[in-house]
Amino acid sequence: MLPYVVIVGRPNVGKSTLFNRLSRQNKALVHDRPGVTRDRLYARVRGGSREFALVDTGGLVLEKGDRLVEDIYEQVQDALSSADLILFVVDGKSGLTALDRQLGTMLRQSRRPVHLVVNKVDGQEQSAFLESDFYSLGFHLTQVSAAHGYNIPSLMETIESTLPESEPAEEQLQGLRLSLLGRPNVGKSSLVNALTGEQRVLVSSSAGTTRDCVDVILNRDGKQYIFIDTAGVRRKTTIRDDLERFSTLRAIKSSQRADVALLVLDALTGVVAQDKKLLSFLEREKIPMVILVNKVDLVPREQLGKLKGYFRDELAFCSYAPVIYTSCVTRAGLGGLIPLAEKVMAQSRIRVGTGQLNRLVRDAVQGHQPPMVKGRRAKIYYLTQPGVSPPEFVFFVNDPELIKPAYARYLEKQLRRTFQLDMAPLKLFFRSSHKQD
Ligand code: GDP
Repeated sequence: MLPYVVIVGRPNVGKSTLFNRLSRQNKALVHDRPGVTRDRLYARVRGGSREFALVDTGGLVLEKGDRLVEDIYEQVQDALSSADLILFVVDGKSGLTALDRQLGTMLRQSRRPVHLVVNKVDGQEQSAFLESDFYSLGFHLTQVSAAHGYNIPSLMETIESTLPESEPAEEQLQGLRLSLLGRPNVGKSSLVNALTGEQRVLVSSSAGTTRDCVDVILNRDGKQYIFIDTAGVRRKTTIRDDLERFSTLRAIKSSQRADVALLVLDALTGVVAQDKKLLSFLEREKIPMVILVNKVDLVPREQLGKLKGYFRDELAFCSYAPVIYTSCVTRAGLGGLIPLAEKVMAQSRIRVGTGQLNRLVRDAVQGHQPPMVKGRRAKIYYLTQPGVSPPEFVFFVNDPELIKPAYARYLEKQLRRTFQLDMAPLKLFFRSSHKQD
């Protein structure tokens, strides 16, 4: 497992700019189109000999109304529970605020590794001015300008030297790796129990890291299924403590280790804000997933149609993710779950041959020409698939600006239909190129 470096801080201090700046250190992570990276919250970053996962939890906060301060506390708590290093960002231009001091106290009391990043310092002249104030927080600090890159190499060096030595690679269990995600009480543990029954085997992995994870192994029909990091399975009888709180970061970590994420929703409460945060994360990161609407036994039969309509609408923004209606009580839907997850994984690993890709471009353009944009028309020269998991497709065109969202959606639809990719997340890119000879 990669060490996690987590960016926290109040709004507008420059967390996402810092995230972008640090993740761009690694050239391989840069995408052509600015829109692709802008709203990312997770990146693998390589610095020197170390590799780490960088997470901007600020992007997971719903920054509106009274919830704001509470959300920031939650974000910091979350980071404290499972980060290997916390980058606490403050604004060097506006100086310390009361909220910064409160967050500072929370972070200090935790005794977790924290490094203070004083951002928006655009040159030496500013440095001395506010420095003493920031030192009063009691952390080692680096002054940077995330926007202009000032002192970023020095911050990277600090990060690298603070991170623990990378542990020897975990011995990988073979089989389909599934992570159960969702708010407390939606039925995650009940699902693991219902799916694995008596056959359950607990394996404690990655001992020595921030908190141990318990994987549950299921052997069935000669195949192995691994339910990753099923915290809480053991703790069922004890009072729910802080560790049981909903942790977005924890969900992110476990989805990164899985082949397929199982996002569990509650049929009675519907899709609430926290569900949406997680869903949009999974969608943005293109993590293969199955959505489970659990506890359907509690819904009167005559209301099922309406319920499904509601979930279809709420989940429309990631319409490729299959939705399954389950009950741990009646076992409805459970039989189909694992085959469905296998299908999602198989689709995510598909590799399409060049001939088929070229045929797709020809047929798609024949079926529906790219519309004229300011008197010019896009020409698609060819299509490649450079990556799997998730499948990544690159269209080489005369000018990417000529491909408007509606046409991109049309091409995605053709890809999905032609290659039977109805359930996998897809990445589509448009790059400019000259005509191939
Ligand atoms: P977790 O926090 O997501 O792991 O949720 P639990 O598995 O602990 O379930 C929370 C509560 O919901 C428990 O009281 C379960 O018995 C109940 N529950 C879980 N699944 C179902 C279901 O399908 N139907 C009904 N009626 N109750 C369920």
